[in-house]
Amino acid sequence: MNAYIYQKSEQYFAFNIWNIESAKAVIDAAAQMKKNVILQTSTEAFVQINKEEMRLFVSNYAKNKGIQVYLHLDHCKKIDLIKEAINYKWDSVMIDGSELPLEENIRITNKVCDITREYEIPVEAEIGRIPRAEEGIQAMKTGVARLKDVQTFINATNVNMLAVAIGTSHGIYQGIPDLHYDLLERVMQIVEVPLVIHGGSGITDDMLRRLLSYKNVKKINISTDVKQAYRNGIYKSLQNGYLEKDGFDPLKVTHIIDDSIEHMVKEKLRILDKDKNRRVIE
Ligand SMILES: [Zn+2]
Repeated sequence: MNAYIYQKSEQYFAFNIWNIESAKAVIDAAAQMKKNVILQTSTEAFVQINKEEMRLFVSNYAKNKGIQVYLHLDHCKKIDLIKEAINYKWDSVMIDGSELPLEENIRITNKVCDITREYEIPVEAEIGRIPRAEEGIQAMKTGVARLKDVQTFINATNVNMLAVAIGTSHGIYQGIPDLHYDLLERVMQIVEVPLVIHGGSGITDDMLRRLLSYKNVKKINISTDVKQAYRNGIYKSLQNGYLEKDGFDPLKVTHIIDDSIEHMVKEKLRILDKDKNRRVIE
């Protein structure tokens, strides 16, 4: 991927994967929908997987399927892991300095941009901490970026993508979150870089559609929904009796799990299809 991929008009869903099987299920779904897609590894997954094997698999399988699939390192806080991701030819990386004071976030983000520049690897940074859902509503309310900080951050860095906390959170929502579209609109007025929405799982299709109506929103992250789809597959296997000791059939179980992930991914990718009523907000 070249450094400018996220500047194209295309919008992406980015699904978290943790092994070849989950990567395959997402690519299968994306290929059926004829959509390019981003696969992302959390740092925990990145540390655990065989990176060489994953890189090879994704490149070859995507090529066979005739779609573009990008590998992204999600929420990385360690420079060493970012260097490793570059070595293993991940397509883009995220440096997450959002828990640091603003100046420190700027400093570490710039350090990463210095490292990635010669490889033309896009860097995603985060401003305003996006909380975990289990931290509760209060955290979601406070987990909203300040416009002044966004401006300072953008002026001081050269990031290619920016994750802005607008009221989404990671994990499973209790109820429907209150998204600050007004903040998103104001950020778009002062910032030209592509924006990333984290915590895209568990929010309604209409909310996703509205987020995608902003042309600067280029990437929406889906992690919890992939894990839940995986869990649902296991649960369904259990209900169907495929996990019984007698007659246990790993092929059937794998098939049900893959199906469950594919179904969810296709539902999300369908939202990308431009309907004629969709208003694109500039
Ligand atoms: Zn995130």
